[in-house]
Amino acid sequence: MKKVFIYFFIFLLIFFFLPALLTKKNVEAKVTTSNTEAEEKTEQYNYKTYGTIKLLHTKTNEIEEVPIDTYLCNVVSAEMPADFEKEALKAQAIVARTYTIYKIQNKKHENADICDVSTCCQAWISKEDRLAKWDENIRESNWKKIEECVYETKGKIITYEGKPINAFFHSNSGGKTEIPVNVWGGTGYPYLQVVETAGEDGYSQYQSEVILSQSELIEKLKTKYEDITIDFINNDDLKILEYTDSGRVKTVKFGNHELSGTEARTLLGLRSTNFEIVREGENIKFWVKGYGHGVGMSQTGADSLAKEGKTCEDIIKHFYIGVEITEENKL
Ligand SMILES: [Zn+2]
Repeated sequence: MKKVFIYFFIFLLIFFFLPALLTKKNVEAKVTTSNTEAEEKTEQYNYKTYGTIKLLHTKTNEIEEVPIDTYLCNVVSAEMPADFEKEALKAQAIVARTYTIYKIQNKKHENADICDVSTCCQAWISKEDRLAKWDENIRESNWKKIEECVYETKGKIITYEGKPINAFFHSNSGGKTEIPVNVWGGTGYPYLQVVETAGEDGYSQYQSEVILSQSELIEKLKTKYEDITIDFINNDDLKILEYTDSGRVKTVKFGNHELSGTEARTLLGLRSTNFEIVREGENIKFWVKGYGHGVGMSQTGADSLAKEGKTCEDIIKHFYIGVEITEENKL
């Protein structure tokens, strides 16, 4: 009888107490790991070459030396809304880090690595200004989220054939990205191709319009083409002549001049070159899809993919073809 009790006790020990003990240990182990992770987040990644960067503040003309990941928190918070999905923000952090290192290797400024203007290099906002623009109740959590996205991806960059890529990005692709040749000319890059992304139409950046009167249109075009004349009765005088492979306007005819889509975008203040011309009585309406040049990662596309459950690495590999995600120290 005693033996039965002993066996029963051993049975209990093996099937109930031991697993319970092990589970407890696992829980403890998990807690320890997340503590370590939290501590690591606050530490700087030991960057081999690009640990600090020289940032040019264009307003004051001052050059500030700043740790790259500190700088990236300011960049990510300036470039992407903090309420986007975490994986989209992490993708933005990796893209911004890659873009920064690419700029260091391909310098534009004499004594600085990069400047704080989005049209020249990359947008930047001070932490103070950034916080002031957020409602008080989300200030702390937003900044914490940005920091997490930068530090959880620390050291990570995108490479093609072992070199940091020219990681272009924009706001909304309108459904399809563009190749750089159609925007800036040149020879292009193998990793920047036309890529389709679903879900971009769910964002406010997807659709916009510019309505101009005939004289307003002439006025705007005259800033570059003084001799412009348009016969508004003739439909052929206001016509899209050619589209790019991504469906954007390549060439458009305004009376006696043919303009490239990018030129028309600049002169008329359109959000992208993906536009249609619609006559509305005496007015001319430009119906525009997407926001930005359309090359590389679309930020709203990244958010849309993250909502589908894609990781930051999936998002990056969706927008940049044939790339690797590697560490700065492996360059
Ligand atoms: Zn610059």
